[in-house]
Amino acid sequence: MKKTEKDEYDKTYGLFKFKRPLPSEIESAMGLVGESILFKKLISADYERFYDPIKIPEEGDWLMTHKEYGQTYNEYIQKDCIPVDPNHNVIYIHRFSSNDDLIKDELFQNLIILLEAFFTGMKVYLYDEGNTNYFNNNENMIENGDENNNENNNENNNENNNENNNENNIENNNENNNENNAENNNNQNNENNENKQSNESNEKMAINADQLLEKLKLEIPEDAYCLLGIIDNDLYTETLLPNGKRLIKATYGKKSIADRVSIFSLARFDPFFNFNGKIKNLSKEQRYKISLILLKRVCSAITREICYMFGMKNCTFMSCCMNGTNVAEFDNKQIELCPICLRKLITNIRANGEDIKTYRVKKPLIVYNRFVKMRDALDNFSGLYENELKWFNARIDFLKTLI
Ligand SMILES: [Zn+2]
Repeated sequence: MKKTEKDEYDKTYGLFKFKRPLPSEIESAMGLVGESILFKKLISADYERFYDPIKIPEEGDWLMTHKEYGQTYNEYIQKDCIPVDPNHNVIYIHRFSSNDDLIKDELFQNLIILLEAFFTGMKVYLYDEGNTNYFNNNENMIENGDENNNENNNENNNENNNENNNENNIENNNENNNENNAENNNNQNNENNENKQSNESNEKMAINADQLLEKLKLEIPEDAYCLLGIIDNDLYTETLLPNGKRLIKATYGKKSIADRVSIFSLARFDPFFNFNGKIKNLSKEQRYKISLILLKRVCSAITREICYMFGMKNCTFMSCCMNGTNVAEFDNKQIELCPICLRKLITNIRANGEDIKTYRVKKPLIVYNRFVKMRDALDNFSGLYENELKWFNARIDFLKTLI
């Protein structure tokens, strides 16, 4: 490596001095030693041409304010992996529908098809029982204009970027800390503005994420690998402070990896979050376009959310679906996994009950077949993934020459 290139890699970014990983570190993180030649090729051949390096963080980006350690393939296998087994190999999606769904059913179907491709080898079922009276239980809800939002505002204003304080983050994938707090996105004015707007609109009530998560824990089917609840309503968590006051915080979702359940809100991915008055003036066509933006954000967020249930952590190696992300970064977020994260997922799914620490993927063509399925799934999205489709076609054409 030339000295000038070395200098580029030595640069640090943000509070925690993030450094771009060296190519040698990326290759080491793949941990492909001992795998078959074909598997290695399908995972990593010419990866520098096909996969973008991790984006240099800029002001407002996740990596500027969050300490990330990355997770190599070997770290995943040795300590973080939650193995799939033949008796627990279904990803259940429980959609809590409302009368005015943010994503209409026909578009939601595309999301399910995408999940089936992304998690090739797993079953993906819509959980449709018990779509219950939860919304009739007023004690689980708060109106956005609730007095406790004052606490929420204060909390957002006091954002502390210290690594030990993950408040207001879009997500925290630490298994031991299931708080999945909503973002501030480093833009307090906007946040305050949004909260102010929210006072003017009570169309969808915010729901207590803790209580909903507890409910999901009781619903998890026997054969579930995980159960992901998806809800249009905004979510909040509530903590009782020593002074007796309630601290209410908005959140994107909450998960309990040990219980294999997660609840996730679409509300803040809606470009018109808290602007319900305006959306009524839009034409049908405009609304459809907005729903596509929402859908794209949600696809990136939900695939990553489910990857967390597999024990995968935020990726710091390359541009990847598993990169830590603030909400403003979601529109440019990669839908596909980098080779390191792809290897984690595929190996776990294929091991399917065998000892994953010694498992070698026996039918490597699964990697190629998954790329084809991903391409076909993204093709359903009416041009929403045009660039991604080009990428998948190029990758597929290239891999064909290696098989
Ligand atoms: Zn990755």
